[in-house]
Parts: sequence; C-alpha cells; structure tokens
Amino acid sequence: MSFAVHGLAVARGVAIGRAVLVASSRVDVAHYFIAPADMAREIDRVRQARNAVVEEIMRIQRSLEERGPKEAPHELTALLDVHLMLLQDESLTLGVKHWITERLYNAEWALTTQLEIIARQFDEMEDPYLRERKADLEQVVERVLRQMKGAASPITVPRSPRRSDQPDLLLDDTMDVPLVLVAHDLSPADMLQFKQSVFAGFVTDVGGKTSHTAIVARSMDIPAVVGARGASQWVRQDDWVIIDGDAGVMIVDPSPIILAEYGFKQRQADLERGRLARLRHTPAVTLDGQKIELLANIEMPEDAQAALQAGAVGVGLFRSEFLFMGREGKLPDEEEQYQAYRRAVEGMHGLPVTIRTVDVGADKPLDKTVKEGANLNPALGLRAIRWSLADPAMFLNQLRAILRAAAHGRVNLLIPMLAHAHEIRATLALIQQARKQLDARGHVHGTVSLGAMIEVPAAALSLRLFLKYFDFLSIGTNDLIQYTLAIDRADEAVAHLYDPLHPAVLRLVAETISLAQAHGKGVCVCGEMAGDVSLTRLLLGLGLHSFSMHPAQIPAVKQEILRADTAKLRPWALRVLDSDEPANELTA
Ligand code: PEP
Ligand code: MG
Repeated sequence: MSFAVHGLAVARGVAIGRAVLVASSRVDVAHYFIAPADMAREIDRVRQARNAVVEEIMRIQRSLEERGPKEAPHELTALLDVHLMLLQDESLTLGVKHWITERLYNAEWALTTQLEIIARQFDEMEDPYLRERKADLEQVVERVLRQMKGAASPITVPRSPRRSDQPDLLLDDTMDVPLVLVAHDLSPADMLQFKQSVFAGFVTDVGGKTSHTAIVARSMDIPAVVGARGASQWVRQDDWVIIDGDAGVMIVDPSPIILAEYGFKQRQADLERGRLARLRHTPAVTLDGQKIELLANIEMPEDAQAALQAGAVGVGLFRSEFLFMGREGKLPDEEEQYQAYRRAVEGMHGLPVTIRTVDVGADKPLDKTVKEGANLNPALGLRAIRWSLADPAMFLNQLRAILRAAAHGRVNLLIPMLAHAHEIRATLALIQQARKQLDARGHVHGTVSLGAMIEVPAAALSLRLFLKYFDFLSIGTNDLIQYTLAIDRADEAVAHLYDPLHPAVLRLVAETISLAQAHGKGVCVCGEMAGDVSLTRLLLGLGLHSFSMHPAQIPAVKQEILRADTAKLRPWALRVLDSDEPANELTA
C-alpha cells in the first residue's frame, strides 16, 4: 500500500529506488557492492566470523560449567544458549547469503540488512520475552561484525547491480536500481562515509534543515529529507521509495502513476541541471555591471575539484573539522593537516582558499561514541573557537599546518564563533606563536588574510571590535539564526521557527555587510542563506558581493545574479529590511 512520510526538504531533487534500512549505530558499517566473482569469498567471511563467535561463546560456556552452578547461574548459561541459537538460525544465514548473491552487497552490509529484517520480526512479536530477544540478536551480530572488522579490504564497485524486478514504468532492465538509505539519524561523520557510498539519497527520522547532516547532503547534491519522523519504522527493507527532496516527502510503495510522474520530474531536473551547467564559465556580473564573487563551501580537500567544476572563484569556507571527525579520538597531527590543506590549496590552482579552524561540538561531535551530547546545551557549550582555545597545543598544530599550506597558494584563515575581545586577543596571540614556532623550526610558511565568522549575535552587535582586528568578515547565517532566535538548528521540533527572514536576523546581516564595507573590509555570507536562490536578490540588494555555498548551488545562484539589477534591488531590499514581516515583502 502506498503512503507518504513528511519531513523537511534539505537537499533538492528526486531519487527513486529501493530502501536500505540501516540502524543509526551501524551507518558506519561499510556499504559497497562486490564483484560477482567475490560472492563466495564474502559468504565465507561471514561464515568464518560467525564460527569464531560460536567458538567464543562455547568457550565461555565451558568455563562456566567448570566453575559450577554457584558462579554460573542458570540464567547466564541459558542466555548463551539463546545467543548460539540466534547465530545459527537459518533466517540469519540464508538471509545474509541472499543479500550477497542476489544484490552483491558486501558481507557487513548483508549482515546488517538481514539483522534489520529479523529485528522487525521480533518487534512485532506478542510475547514480551521473545520481543526482548531482539537485543540479544543485536549483540551477537555486533560480535560477528567486530570479528569481520579488518578481515578484508573493500573493493568498491560504485554501481548498483543489475536487477530485473523493477517497476516497468520507471526503469528498463538495462538500468541500475538506485538505493536510498533510511535511518533514524546520521551524524556528520557518517556523512563522510556516505560520500563514498552507493546511495542515491537518504531520509532520516530526525534532524533540522541546517543541521550539518543536511548541509553535507546539500554538498553532495543528492535528494534528502530529514525530520521525517517514523520513516525508519514504517519503511521495510527493500521497499520501493521516492524521495522528493524539494517537497520534503518520501513516498513508499508508489503507484505506477506516481512513479511515472516522478520519473518525469527527475528528467526535467536533469535537463535543468545540464542547462545551468553551461553557465560555468560565465562571469557572475549583474545587469548593472556589479561583479559578484561566487565561492565554494567544502568539507574535504578533494571537494576542490567539484568547486572548480561548478565555476567557483575560490573556496569561501573549508570546514576543517571534517578532517577531525570519526577518528576515535586520534586527531590529525600537524603534518597530516598540512598535507590536507596543501591538497586543497593546490587543487584550487591559485584561487584563494579560506580555511576555517576546527569547529567541532554541538551537532558535529568528534565521534559518535564521545558523549558531547551529555552537556545540556551543546550548541552553547565548548564548541568551535572555545574548544580550540581550551587546548592550545591542538590549536597550534592546526595553525602551523594552515600557515605552512599558505606557502603553496592564497590562503585565508577564518575563525569560527568568536564573541569576546579576549577570545580575539588569545587567538591572535596563538597565530603569532605558531608563526614563531615555524620560524624557529625553519619551516616555510606563507602570509594569510585573517577573518572572523560573524555567527553569534554578540559579534554582530560589536562589529567595530572585529573590524579592528580582522581583514574580512564571513557571516555564518546558520548559527547566527540559531543563536538570534534561540532555536536548535538540529532539532526538527523547532524547525518551523528557523527563519532567515526574521527582521532581527536580516538587520544583523545587513548591518554587518554595510559596516564592513564602510571600513573597506571584505564581507561574505557563507551560511546556507548564500546558496538559497530565493534569497539571492535580497542579499544583492543589501549590498553583498561575496557568496559562499555548496558547489552544486553555484549555477542556480549565478543565474539569479545574471538577471539582477542591484541598483533597482536596493530600495526594495531596504523596504524588506524595514518590514515587520519581511517574508510578505519578499513574495509581494
Ligand atoms: C554557519 O554557521 O552559518 C556556518 C557557515 O558554519 P557551520 O554551518 O559550519 O556552523
Ligand atoms: Mg557556524
């Protein structure tokens, strides 16, 4: 039966494919397709790992028996029996085999897919004792996964295997079946894995529109819906689904008519994308001759290529924290960071690269296992520059690495979330110290322009202080909105209050632009507002000349710029700014 699950539209486009349900705790399990010749090897990997776990449990059982009934209570031995039974159950082994041979899933993926299916069956059981056995199943599968870890290196085949059981209207049997991921939650670190995976789109139960998970989805330019509460409960493994990233909806088990309609929409979007791509080499100049700088936001050095391909004239925001995430506490040292920044700088072939110092915390935990969320208000806690200043040795490593990379091209150094004069002074002193350390070591380093992010209302309201110390400002509207309106950007329950057009937000943005310009300093918007085409004219009217966004958004924003006349937009933008309800002015 067809049904729809509504959430928040975070990354545009349509994806049609089979649902792959992944428990949040297992999103970091490798997902890749194997070559048909490797099927037997993958089945064997699971078998061997399972046998090793069976052996381990039997060993424990034997040692318990030796200790006698006093030390080995009956409940414990009974539980181990249950674990053995679950491990050897045919529905697990045959299911895993099915996913490997029929879908060419790698062993870990096949195992977690089958786990999700059996776990659902447990959930539906009437008997509470049997229902609770789901936790045991998860435990034993976790053990098997641990056994398999590192047992084989993945061979990535970045294409879906051919299938013949597809709805006729959508795909003929010469095409590949896309897969879409459905999970309760995805962390920003998961998203890094996701970048290299096979999925054509994703849906999560939780998350806000400008959560970092949503931001990475936009950077990948794949359809995504977050905050679709209950999605991971209602969808079954392998269901056909449509993700409508523009409307923020997932349609499960769609009818042939709906499939045809979305197939058409998908083709239209592809055509539009192709048309916009032709603007790549067109300079971003308004009708009245204003040159506009379109920069790229990137997460990894390798993203520089996508930035160039989209026609970016530089990187306006390199979110360096993605180099720090998902590393189980082992942070990248100076050398590793230097190599990464250097790759980004060289990848941009002489165009400027703005490297933002690490911004972890809040919805960007270093590791999922690290309980940053244990703090009551992580967004107000030790994040970004606060985190860096709390660990000067770590921060100096990063500063030295960036300064060394600056010897290879044009580098701007951007500091996130500053609010206090003493934070500015401490940061500048550490930059100075990093330079001296490099001189003392005889390491070559370059000069950098220094920028501050304006993303806390306190900063936007004390701009003179920032203009005194910094060469340029970069407005982080994602956080500026979060902190001005006191809503958690990652919480879908308050997503309806996240409003870039709130008069207070617009006033802070407008004043930052005009005061920076009055002081002859550069000013850029690098939050999601910059890539939102519905706001391009307003930002141009407010005098903005520098926008930084995901590479995929550049062509559409450029098209808006080419059609705009800033001289005419100016009085209108001032009216919007003056309005109590700017959104109404915008649509008028
Ligand atoms: C912002 O806050 O607008 C920004 C660009 O930084 P981030 O989204 O990484 O917090
Ligand atoms: Mg921010």
